[in-house]
Amino acid sequence: MSVLILVEHGEGALKDATLSTITAAAKLGEVHALVAGDGDEARAAADAAAKVAGVAKVLLASDPAYAQMLAENVAPLIVSLMGDYDALLCNATSNGKNVAPRVAALLDVMQVSDVMSIEGPDTFTRPIYAGNAVATVRSSDAKKVLTVRATAFPKAAGEGGNAPVEAAAGAGDAGLSRFVGCESAKSDRPELTSAKVVVSGGRALGSAEDFHKLVDPLADKLHAAIGASRAAVDAGYAPNDYQVGQTGKIVAPEIYIAVGISGAIQHLAGMKDSATIIAINKDEDAPIFQVADVGLVGDLFTLVPELTEKL
Ligand code: FAD
Repeated sequence: MSVLILVEHGEGALKDATLSTITAAAKLGEVHALVAGDGDEARAAADAAAKVAGVAKVLLASDPAYAQMLAENVAPLIVSLMGDYDALLCNATSNGKNVAPRVAALLDVMQVSDVMSIEGPDTFTRPIYAGNAVATVRSSDAKKVLTVRATAFPKAAGEGGNAPVEAAAGAGDAGLSRFVGCESAKSDRPELTSAKVVVSGGRALGSAEDFHKLVDPLADKLHAAIGASRAAVDAGYAPNDYQVGQTGKIVAPEIYIAVGISGAIQHLAGMKDSATIIAINKDEDAPIFQVADVGLVGDLFTLVPELTEKL
């Protein structure tokens, strides 16, 4: 089986989720990696992809139309390449979830979303009901289009491969969308989806000011990424890209600290695979304690500064 994966990259480096998708793809067959981008950054990303263990070939589509990986331009590019492939795998990230359904629609096949395991060439598992059940799905389509849950697969080694890089040409600008601008928060913290430790704050923090006053120092001490519940994001205490959960990011760090988060199923869907869950909540009956390995019952405004100090 020949498999194409869509590489996500930034500033010439591969995103961690792509390394997990490569591991998933290798279970299906020979892996070719498509880098869509422009100029030196795309070239650097292609060179990095060529070094990943398990990648047999890199296709580099370099064109100003692919610089921001607009899904409207990248999807037809992938479709033009799919004659040679039995499956396309994208990350189950905002980007992958933007591109893959367009490819599936253009190929007139089903998409299997958020794949957690590859059981065979046509059989996959994926979460349903906000992660409360796992469905085994068999696709009878000739070509498979999958999005892959990064936390379910280990990352492929970034070194060890030596794949050739070949140029791929697509139709370029589809004329359907235009890149206007990107505002992204710059941070020295680890990326939320790949951090070893995550400290997340909930509605109980009460304000953006207190969110940062309490959560930031604790995260600093632990070299942790910062997450948030949707309630905290909706209230404006934390930016949108901090959101963990069903409609946010899926994380599975070694340690997840939930501060003033009740543990609604939609939040648990994004973090319950964490190795150790520590919950701080004043309500001993809060559902978060059902998944927590360590629970601190009490007022977070006292417990969090105390914990930070002791660390
Ligand atoms: P609350 O539920 O209000 O909990 C606050 C907690 O803080 C309580 O348990 C309380 O006991 C505790 N507390 C209060 N004061 C203190 C104090 N001083 N000290 C210690 N503890 C204190 N939510 C997500 O997080 N992520 C998602 O991706 C997501 N997607 C959703 C998708 C859909 C379709 C829907 C319907 C909902 C979604 N939600 C999601 C929302 C989810 O249902 C909850 O509303 C949300 O997670 C609640 O956030 P919270 O735990 O911060 O707030």
